[in-house]
Amino acid sequence: MNYISTRGAGIGERHTFSDILLGGLAKDGGLYLPNEYPKVSADELARWRTLSYADLAFEILRKFSDDIPADDLRELTRRTYTAQTYCNVRDEENAAQITPLKTLGVENGAPLSLLELSNGPTLAFKDMAMQLLGNLFEYTLAKHGETLNILGATSGDTGSAAEYAMRGKKGIRVFMLSPHKKMSAFQTAQMYSLQDPNIFNIAVEGVFDDCQDIVKAVSNDHAFKAQQKIGTVNSINWARVVAQVVYYFKGYFAATKSNDERVSFTVPSGNFGNVCAGHIARMMGLPIEKLVVATNENDVLDEFFRTGIYRVRKSAETYHTSSPSMDISKASNFERFVFDLLGRDPKRVLQLFRDVEEKGGFDLQASGDFARVQQFGFVSGRSDHDDRVDTIRDVFQRYDTMIDTHTADGVKVAREHLQAGVPMVVLETAQPIKFGETIREALEREPERPAAFSGLESLPQRFEVLPNDAQRVKEFVAAHTR
Ligand SMILES: *Cc1c(COP(=O)(O)O)cnc(C)c1O
Repeated sequence: MNYISTRGAGIGERHTFSDILLGGLAKDGGLYLPNEYPKVSADELARWRTLSYADLAFEILRKFSDDIPADDLRELTRRTYTAQTYCNVRDEENAAQITPLKTLGVENGAPLSLLELSNGPTLAFKDMAMQLLGNLFEYTLAKHGETLNILGATSGDTGSAAEYAMRGKKGIRVFMLSPHKKMSAFQTAQMYSLQDPNIFNIAVEGVFDDCQDIVKAVSNDHAFKAQQKIGTVNSINWARVVAQVVYYFKGYFAATKSNDERVSFTVPSGNFGNVCAGHIARMMGLPIEKLVVATNENDVLDEFFRTGIYRVRKSAETYHTSSPSMDISKASNFERFVFDLLGRDPKRVLQLFRDVEEKGGFDLQASGDFARVQQFGFVSGRSDHDDRVDTIRDVFQRYDTMIDTHTADGVKVAREHLQAGVPMVVLETAQPIKFGETIREALEREPERPAAFSGLESLPQRFEVLPNDAQRVKEFVAAHTR
């Protein structure tokens, strides 16, 4: 399998899965995609129905990474997707399934269920891909005798998923910047209680944007970046996207009895990474009816799927909401879908994303391209704080099930796209304990806390406070990579 950039650079060059694994953007600023999507045959689909999660992951990933020996890949997926790692389940007996399907009920003739993706170590769906990434990174670095220092900024979910994936991994260090005293007690404890010597929590005296600016400043110092072997694990990483394809297959099998049926998925979306994986599953031939993109008040994506207009927001127009992991102003993986929508024309993609930089967006309505969105199964909707609170309360009362704020956005929007006879699977992207404030508002009770997390906030914490100063962060990194 060869990988190409959405903006056309490197056509005719060879990029394997391992080549692009540790990198971010392609050198022309585009995103990597396979030169064509591998297709799944009816025979394969029939055989995959009964596989364990780990072996299903092996079968799917193998189609995208033929440069990794099959035995090695199988060992990596079996080591990653274990009941021990994904142990924070609602029902103990479901742990072996890794991503159990929780049926809520039938609404408007459509079976409605939640695909639990948040049973991993940080209680958010990002663990599904990030845990594999940790093992893939360690494997690839060891093979080439290299090391990597991951630098990142986080306001919560991504940073902790990265730390729990990379802790104790050989050849890898993580330097994670977070805003000092600005995260919830739970999120702070989740990250800062890690005692692994290869994990460095840096509490910056500033806000999240300051942390991000420091990461940018350090990354723009190319000499420093090369010398210190600095890398990232952000949501455009191809391996993260493709690892997420697996649970669409798993969810499909759990929601159906035979491969003749079709299923719709609703995906609480921010950077379009999760739902992009759904798009890829559909392109591979999984019988997906609709891919429902659910946004919060930051509705860049909903606007596009309703109107064909993609208009990125400025920082000042980006709202801080009670589903904060979806508070984005531009969707960093969206370009991958646009590439497919435009019939894989890199020249036009380049032009459109130049327009994003220069004019703040583009309009596909006039050109007629938007009409094809339907063929890809995409529809959308948005949800706001009141919807979220109402939905959390309604799902709790009706189905005795507590859901988090992001999942609530998903359920709210899913209900607007139900079709009789077509199972609707909402991806559960986090557990309620992570967003306790809104749970208390909706239900007047404390969120459920998985057993492994009791007393988390009173564990000893390990972190370094640094001023809002890129130079000081560089000095800290340099001093700890020797
Ligand atoms: C990251 C995240 C999202 C958004 O996922 P994308 O892949 O960025 O679209 C939704 N919900 C939760 C809880 C998240 O952590």
